Amino acid sequence: MLNEILATLQVLSLPTRTNFRSVTKREVALFKGPSGWGEFSPFLEYGKDEAAYWLGAGIEAAFGELPKLQRDEIEINATLPAVDSQIDVERILSWYPGAKVVKIKVGDDLEADLNRIQHAINFNDNLKIRLDVNGGWSVKQAEDSIAQIVQRFGLERFEYIEQPVATLQELKELNLPIPVAGDEVIRKAKDPFSVDLQGAVDILMLKVSPLGGIARSLAIAKHHNLPIVVSSALESAVGISQGIKLAAALPQLNYACGLATGKLLSNDVAELPIIAGRMKVSEVHPTGMLNFQAAPERITWWKNRIRDSFEVWQARN
Ligand SMILES: [Mg+2]
Repeated sequence: MLNEILATLQVLSLPTRTNFRSVTKREVALFKGPSGWGEFSPFLEYGKDEAAYWLGAGIEAAFGELPKLQRDEIEINATLPAVDSQIDVERILSWYPGAKVVKIKVGDDLEADLNRIQHAINFNDNLKIRLDVNGGWSVKQAEDSIAQIVQRFGLERFEYIEQPVATLQELKELNLPIPVAGDEVIRKAKDPFSVDLQGAVDILMLKVSPLGGIARSLAIAKHHNLPIVVSSALESAVGISQGIKLAAALPQLNYACGLATGKLLSNDVAELPIIAGRMKVSEVHPTGMLNFQAAPERITWWKNRIRDSFEVWQARN
C-alpha cells in the first residue's frame, strides 16, 4: 500500500485567498487507490503521531469502503477568518451563497471581535452566528467577553461558541448563556474516546482528517452521543469530499457544517459547488494539479513524512 501511495503521490501547494491560521500556502499530498483519491495534509508543524491519523483518513478514502449514507447533501456555514474591514467581511461572506449561518473567528481583541460581528450582520441581518475562539480565552475572559457580545447583539443571534477556553477542566468550569462546542478538546486528545465531555460541551465538532477518517469519526460520535457539527481542516476538495460523506453518514445532523472552506483557497483541485447554502456528496476527480506542484525538495519532505506516518499508522492498525 505504501508503494501505491508513493507511486501516485501529488504534492501540491495551493495558495489561500486569506491568511487563515497564518497559512498563505496550503500544502497537501494526494494519492490514488482503488476507491479513489485520498488526502494527507496535516499542518506542517504536526509530528508523526498526530499526522498518522490524517494519513489513516487518506488511506480510508483511497483504499477503504464508504459507510451507508443517510443523505446526499448537507447544509454548510460560511467561515469568516479574523479580518477587520467591512469590505473584507462582505467579500468573504459573498463566497457562500445561501449560507444561513456564519462561523466567526474571535478572541484576539474584543473591540475588533464586536466590529467583525457587526460587519457580518450588516452584510446579512438574518445570519445566525457561531463563534470560534480556538481555546484562546481564560474562563473569566470568556464569561466577560460573551456577556458583552450578547448584550450588544442579543442572545438569539448566537448558535454556539466553539472552544472558548482550552482545557476540559476550564470547559467544565465555564458558565455561558449560549451552548458550547468542543473541537480541540477532542481533536487534540491522546484518546478522543476517553475524554469525559459530560458537563463540558453541548455540541461536538468532528474533522475527518485529524480524527483518522469517516469510520473512526462515526465511532467517536456514537461514543459521545452529542449533537455533531462536521467541520474542515482546510483540506483540498479531496479531503473536503470525505468530510461531506461523514456528515452525510451521521444518523442525525441538526447543524450546518463547516465544509465550505475550499472558498478560502484561491485554487482548488476540484469544484465543490455551494448551491442555496448546501453541498452535495460527490466523487472528486482532481484536475489542474500540474499547476500547483510543490518544489522538488518539498515533495521529498512529504514522501519522508508519509513513510514516518505510515509506520505509526501501521503499528496502530
Ligand atoms: Mg475550531
